[in-house]
Amino acid sequence: MAKLQSPRGTSDLLPEVMAGHRHVTDTAKTVSLSFGFEEMATPVFEFTEVFARPLGETSDVVSKETYTFTDRGGESLTLRPEGTAGAVRAMISSGLTQTMPQKYFYAGPMFRYERPQKGRMRQFHQIGVELLGVPSAIGDAEVITLGHMVLSRLGVADHCVLNLNTLGDTESRQAYRQALVEYLNGHKDNLSEDSQRRLHLNPLRILDSKDAGDKDILVNAPDLADYLNAVSADHFAAVREYLDAVNIKYQINSRLVRGLDYYGHTTFEFITDALGAQGTVMAGGRYDGLTAMLGGGDIAGVGWAAGIERLAMLSDIPSPPPVDVMMIGTSEPHMATLFQLAMPLREQGLRVETGYASNLGKQMKRADRINAGHVVILGDDEAARQVAMVRSMTDGHQDEVAINDLVEHMIGRIRQRQI
Ligand code: ATP
Ligand code: MG
Repeated sequence: MAKLQSPRGTSDLLPEVMAGHRHVTDTAKTVSLSFGFEEMATPVFEFTEVFARPLGETSDVVSKETYTFTDRGGESLTLRPEGTAGAVRAMISSGLTQTMPQKYFYAGPMFRYERPQKGRMRQFHQIGVELLGVPSAIGDAEVITLGHMVLSRLGVADHCVLNLNTLGDTESRQAYRQALVEYLNGHKDNLSEDSQRRLHLNPLRILDSKDAGDKDILVNAPDLADYLNAVSADHFAAVREYLDAVNIKYQINSRLVRGLDYYGHTTFEFITDALGAQGTVMAGGRYDGLTAMLGGGDIAGVGWAAGIERLAMLSDIPSPPPVDVMMIGTSEPHMATLFQLAMPLREQGLRVETGYASNLGKQMKRADRINAGHVVILGDDEAARQVAMVRSMTDGHQDEVAINDLVEHMIGRIRQRQI
């Protein structure tokens, strides 16, 4: 039989990798809680409509990247490509739209049918936060500040630049869109195929094009900043003032857009140059139109999501706790004695490994491999005298300890080493 592989674009989170994911998630969860964002989770699949409605059939994500299938009951379901639509759907389904604000933190797998590369997977993982019901600039500033603190705690903030932009309100965006389309129409034949298609469907998205020819054309394109009405300019100025007040540095990047209609006002990305082409580690913005699109009424929203894989690659991952003790019995009855003695040690929070077989040499090799701090050996000779041998693996020193005192002895010894 051919060797089984995980599907293309997925990977196993074996313990070493999982430790990185856990570190990222736990850090983000702790920081989120300090801002009052509590953890929640939504299903990994939703009715296709939950994503198709807000993302729009024309968006890259829905037209090219979703995993959509019909289940046995004939329902069209989609594996979630992102977390925001599901979180908002959950708020609406639970009747929470009258209880504002809602503040959520989440972490979990997302699914997009993409061409896999380093830092780009088909099943990947995101952390994210959503702040619902706060239309004013303090909301934008709070989620950006939260994101920055997560990156700082992970030790990656210094390697990232915060790119900041505003899309303005609907009125400003419409005025700008008109000017942009007018300009781009003059260069239509030289635009990439993708961008020609977007010219009618989603012209703002062209600003984000990675195509070199498009980029040349965009150099002289009109600037959204020149089309902001007073409300939009004030909102953006207020966001910047809040960020200045807590000393968060940013670069204004007028090309930073989200192609989706429900995004407005602030957009931002934390970008690093340490990951090659996949440089965006955290991306977010204001999405005041989304809740209405999902049938939940006029509720403002702002949030971000960050790729756990990319963050884990950039952060220093703490090592797992060391193995304090490994228990080795040279026969089944001795193994049974140690099996029992290990329990109160674990109750005390020590990490205790079991020697699963009676071959002393092999078990000692494993103790070496897993870097055990101590080994407790119970052989016939020791058992006859009601003692066990305690060997320090750091200096090779051995002591005989009465079996009756062993638990207390080991706890004392390891606690002392920890001080
Ligand atoms: P990109 O331009 O890289 O495709 P995106 O705009 O599709 O990014 P978002 O939807 O904003 O990405 O997702 C937020 C974050 O999630 C990204 O900044 C990135 O860190 C991570 N991310 C997105 N897609 C993937 C993927 N396929 N594999 C791994 N991480 C991803
Ligand atoms: Mg993408």
